[in-house]
Amino acid sequence: MALDSESFSILLDTIRRFIQERLVPAENHVEEYDEVPQDIVEEMKELGLFGLSIPEEYGGIGLSMSQECQVAFELGRTALAFRSVFGTNVGIGSQGILMDGTPAQKHEILPRVASGELIMSFALTEPDAGSDAAALKTRAEADGDEYVLNGTKRFITNAPRAGAFTLMARTGGPGASGVSAFIIPAALPGLRLGKTDKKMGQRGTKTCDVILENVRVPASAIIGGVPGQGFKTAMKVLDRGRLHISAVSCGIAQRILHESTAYARERKQFGKAIGEFQLIQAMLADSQAEMLAGWSLVQDVSRRFDLKPPHMSDPEISMQASCTKLFCTEMVGRVADRGVQIHGGAGYINEYKVERFYRDVRLLRLYEGTTQIQQLIIGRELLKSH
Ligand SMILES: Cc1cc2nc3c(=O)[nH]c(=O)nc-3n(C[C@H](O)[C@H](O)[C@H](O)COP(=O)(O)OP(=O)(O)OC[C@H]3O[C@@H](n4cnc5c(N)ncnc54)[C@H](O)[C@@H]3O)c2cc1C
Repeated sequence: MALDSESFSILLDTIRRFIQERLVPAENHVEEYDEVPQDIVEEMKELGLFGLSIPEEYGGIGLSMSQECQVAFELGRTALAFRSVFGTNVGIGSQGILMDGTPAQKHEILPRVASGELIMSFALTEPDAGSDAAALKTRAEADGDEYVLNGTKRFITNAPRAGAFTLMARTGGPGASGVSAFIIPAALPGLRLGKTDKKMGQRGTKTCDVILENVRVPASAIIGGVPGQGFKTAMKVLDRGRLHISAVSCGIAQRILHESTAYARERKQFGKAIGEFQLIQAMLADSQAEMLAGWSLVQDVSRRFDLKPPHMSDPEISMQASCTKLFCTEMVGRVADRGVQIHGGAGYINEYKVERFYRDVRLLRLYEGTTQIQQLIIGRELLKSH
């Protein structure tokens, strides 16, 4: 699946223009009011951003992974809250259905996801099951041809906006093989949301708990219709997500470099622009080199991802996606730190955007598998294959 190169190049130009003309000027609004303006959300729908990764037959644009990463790179060049509005529709919220759903599930859900009419979230994490996701406790008990769900999901991105969740719950015994992935409409009786989390950064993004108390769904709500496959589905979804997050990391690194270079040119000390000092140039050069290394990695691994059979997992590609996320998210942390340093005291002040980017990028090392979890995946795969 990929968009032809001419249409893709037009799309990329349109998105770049939208970012420069509409999103960048709205960054201060998002920071101040902790929300993305609704008129911008509507424009995102018109541009097709909610359906970037959904095939054309379901009303999406049908980008390949490497094309999606190029778009994610561009979206990284502005406040990350904008991408988050449709990020779960493009990635973790919808892809489980696309990869493993039944034809009926795909036809029912994906066109509404692609148009932005339905916001989908991904609910795996729980209060006692984060990195150890296979230990999740949310129960889904069979009752005739229904399941009854009880449990709490934590830190769920876009839950306050979601119309439905791809939600992992335990239908069987302990461990990964007892987990099933469900499609759970948000409006069902017994489902309620916790209060919206107050976060370190990424103002304008929304997360909260999702609490399930005797929520009833038909057995046909299990993705693919077969219980016990949900953990595998979640891990495949996260492989893709890790490449997407890596591309976003490179985009925001590029933006921080842009802000830092502009500041270094403008700010004068000791009678000259600080950019003339080689110690400042060294920080800029390290950031540029690391950003380029990360972006080269994203491009290479996302192309490999596109070469494997669609929707199949490949341990080698999973390991490479983990290497990419590990490198790129740690890289942008260092780039953001240097960005603050180059700005001096101004780097600590909110009105200079590097301060908020510094806080925003901190999350990238935590979700969709922490850096330590990426290290474990890489280490385990190396020991298996060498
Ligand atoms: C803003 C935000 C949005 C999120 N969005 C979503 C979402 O949409 N859907 C969703 O399901 N989840 C979401 N999450 C949850 C996120 O994926 C988890 O927070 C993350 O996986 C880490 O889990 P945890 O917070 O329980 O940390 P823990 O697992 O408790 O980890 C704590 C520390 O221990 C380390 N650690 C854990 N196990 C090991 C080990 N075996 N070896 C070495 N170190 C280890 C971790 O790396 C970390 O440093 C979100 C989180 C945040 C903050």
